[in-house]
Amino acid sequence: MSYPWEMPSIRNKRKKPFRPRCRFCRKNDEVIPVVYGFEITEELLEKEQKGEIKIGAAAIGADRHNWFCKRCESGFLR
Ligand SMILES: [Zn+2]
Repeated sequence: MSYPWEMPSIRNKRKKPFRPRCRFCRKNDEVIPVVYGFEITEELLEKEQKGEIKIGAAAIGADRHNWFCKRCESGFLR
Protein backbone atom coordinates (compact mmCIF):
# COMPACT_ATOMS: atom_id res chain seq x y z
CA MET A 1 0.00 0.00 0.00
CA SER A 2 1.25 3.43 -0.71
CA TYR A 3 0.18 6.57 1.03
CA PRO A 4 -0.36 10.01 -0.48
CA TRP A 5 2.74 11.46 1.17
CA GLU A 6 4.88 8.81 -0.49
CA MET A 7 3.81 9.76 -3.96
CA PRO A 8 6.51 11.40 -6.03
CA SER A 9 5.56 14.72 -7.45
CA ILE A 10 4.32 14.78 -11.00
CA ARG A 11 7.15 16.93 -12.26
CA ASN A 12 9.94 14.84 -10.78
CA LYS A 13 8.86 11.27 -11.04
CA ARG A 14 12.26 9.87 -10.28
CA LYS A 15 12.99 12.08 -7.33
CA LYS A 16 11.92 11.72 -3.78
CA PRO A 17 8.43 12.68 -2.75
CA PHE A 18 7.88 16.36 -2.21
CA ARG A 19 8.98 17.79 1.10
CA PRO A 20 8.44 21.44 1.88
CA ARG A 21 11.17 23.41 3.55
CA CYS A 22 10.96 23.93 7.27
CA ARG A 23 9.93 27.47 8.03
CA PHE A 24 12.51 27.65 10.83
CA CYS A 25 15.72 26.12 9.45
CA ARG A 26 14.82 26.47 5.76
CA LYS A 27 15.82 22.90 4.99
CA ASN A 28 13.72 19.92 4.17
CA ASP A 29 15.99 16.99 4.90
CA GLU A 30 14.49 16.42 8.33
CA VAL A 31 10.94 17.20 7.37
CA ILE A 32 8.40 14.40 7.64
CA PRO A 33 4.68 14.37 6.97
CA VAL A 34 2.22 14.46 9.84
CA VAL A 35 -0.49 11.95 9.16
CA TYR A 36 -4.11 12.42 10.01
CA GLY A 37 -7.21 10.56 9.18
CA PHE A 38 -5.67 7.19 8.56
CA GLU A 39 -6.32 4.13 10.56
CA ILE A 40 -3.33 3.58 12.85
CA THR A 41 -1.91 0.34 11.62
CA GLU A 42 1.20 -1.61 12.54
CA GLU A 43 2.70 -0.32 9.34
CA LEU A 44 2.10 3.29 10.30
CA LEU A 45 3.47 2.75 13.80
CA GLU A 46 6.56 1.19 12.31
CA LYS A 47 7.06 4.14 10.01
CA GLU A 48 6.71 6.50 12.92
CA GLN A 49 9.29 4.56 14.91
CA LYS A 50 11.67 4.83 11.99
CA GLY A 51 11.07 8.55 11.88
CA GLU A 52 9.54 8.55 8.43
CA ILE A 53 6.26 10.04 9.50
CA LYS A 54 4.59 11.49 12.53
CA ILE A 55 1.16 10.37 13.52
CA GLY A 56 -0.94 13.38 14.33
CA ALA A 57 -3.25 13.32 17.28
CA ALA A 58 -6.87 13.77 16.50
CA ALA A 59 -6.45 17.47 16.93
CA ILE A 60 -9.22 19.77 15.97
CA GLY A 61 -8.79 23.36 15.05
CA ALA A 62 -6.10 25.58 13.65
CA ASP A 63 -3.18 23.75 15.16
CA ARG A 64 -3.17 20.85 12.75
CA HIS A 65 0.32 20.83 11.34
CA ASN A 66 0.79 18.68 8.31
CA TRP A 67 4.59 18.71 8.32
CA PHE A 68 7.08 18.26 11.09
CA CYS A 69 10.77 19.13 11.20
CA LYS A 70 12.72 16.69 13.32
CA ARG A 71 15.66 19.05 13.59
CA CYS A 72 13.62 21.90 15.03
CA GLU A 73 11.03 19.63 16.60
CA SER A 74 8.40 21.95 15.27
CA GLY A 75 5.37 21.39 13.18
CA PHE A 76 4.24 23.71 10.48
CA LEU A 77 1.52 23.99 7.92
CA ARG A 78 2.04 24.01 4.19
ZN1 LIG B 1 13.67 22.82 10.80
